[in-house]
Amino acid sequence: MNKKYVAPPYRIKMVEPIKVTTKEERIGFLKDAGYNPFSLRSEDVYIDLLTDSGTGAMSHFQWAALMMGDEAYAGSRSFYKLEKVAKEITNYKYIIPAHQGRGAEQVVLPQLVDREGLYFISNMHFDTTRAHVELAGARALDCVIDECFDTENYHPFKGNFDLKGLVNIIEGKGKENIAGIIMTITNNSAGGQPVSMENMKEVKKIANKYDITLLIDGARYAENAYFVKQREEEYKNKSIREIALEVFQLADIFLMSAKKDGISNIGGLICIKEDTDLYNKCRTYIVPMEGFPTYGGLTGRDMEALSVGLNEALELDYLEHRMDQVRFLGDKLRDAGVPIQYPVGGHAVFVDCKKFAPHIPYFEFPAQSVSNALYLEAGVRPVEIGSFLLGRDPDTHENLESPLELMRLTIPRRTYTYAHLEVVAEAVIEVYKNREILVGLEFDYEPPVLRHFTARLKPIKK
Ligand SMILES: *Cc1c(COP(=O)(O)O)cnc(C)c1O
Repeated sequence: MNKKYVAPPYRIKMVEPIKVTTKEERIGFLKDAGYNPFSLRSEDVYIDLLTDSGTGAMSHFQWAALMMGDEAYAGSRSFYKLEKVAKEITNYKYIIPAHQGRGAEQVVLPQLVDREGLYFISNMHFDTTRAHVELAGARALDCVIDECFDTENYHPFKGNFDLKGLVNIIEGKGKENIAGIIMTITNNSAGGQPVSMENMKEVKKIANKYDITLLIDGARYAENAYFVKQREEEYKNKSIREIALEVFQLADIFLMSAKKDGISNIGGLICIKEDTDLYNKCRTYIVPMEGFPTYGGLTGRDMEALSVGLNEALELDYLEHRMDQVRFLGDKLRDAGVPIQYPVGGHAVFVDCKKFAPHIPYFEFPAQSVSNALYLEAGVRPVEIGSFLLGRDPDTHENLESPLELMRLTIPRRTYTYAHLEVVAEAVIEVYKNREILVGLEFDYEPPVLRHFTARLKPIKK
């Protein structure tokens, strides 16, 4: 392709002003936030790359659909619309909405755990998925290919299951002790890396052979389908919708955080292929957890917006532009020598901060230090995914060392322009040029669990 970039397939109809602050102001804001970008006020952020979850821009079709919301407690028209759209996309029999992805997890996962000593195996469990597996009384095991941890070398599908490893775990633990296999597409925790159709078909064969329930954790299933179309010869002439449909037929259950490829600000889905017994259990259990099964924690208007967003996320021109934004930022950084996870995944560029700031040890949180420097440089808010997030060993209380120290630059859907991404790239490159002056961080306040959300830090004076 001989283009500088894929221009957006939309124009701007409404704008939300964002504030450019001075460096002096940002120094104060960051100090007040305890050197933890999570505690910044979003008003004090110029370009917010904390997450792509619920941060996308809705289309005018979605805004118009909001007006059609039917807020009936039971049997809402908006539910039937959402159900119809989700059935068309998945070809599954049963659809239940949830307030977001973790809502779907808290309803479904306990239904699959009927005794102690069970395991779920995933290419990589997302944090909340792991938490709900554990809350249900089971254990979460990850089984991804080794290439996933090599940030430098090209592999088209770094999110793939390690198939040999999967069989070994099943044989080792006993197939009767495996509550389910969870295919996370794209593999969020591995940097939004895709899983190939070939790999998913092999996982399906293994699940069949051992008679194990197969789940898809598919917050970004449309982005995954786009990668399959681009990188698997057999699929280059298939539509995104056809590829997605083929993937869904492999599994028994599809759980979705609709805040990602639903292009909605809130929402989730539970989709069950044909298991009526499981559906009935979920329908009962969801009432005290999320709400009545025709709203599942969503308003009627949320369900309307989601019905539209689900279809928009499958449009090829939308996906081409979205994925190109991530590619664009990744290329700018790579061209300047900044170490990133390569190739970039679907929703973010991950900067390898072990290589960026090798002089900062893991227990002084190198990726958090780089993230803070980026905020000071240009008002850009990234998020740390490394040892700061990982926390401490529950027994020894020592800081755990993450295999990767990453700064995630997450691109919201349809929200920023290439010009914004250029500002981000230039700022990262500037911080990289001056990386020797970065210092590590120590705690001022450390909460006992999930510390990365609320901890206060301070730079270590040397
Ligand atoms: C975001 C996400 C979830 C959780 O969804 P929420 O909507 O944030 O509750 C689960 N799995 C994956 C892969 C995700 O990306």
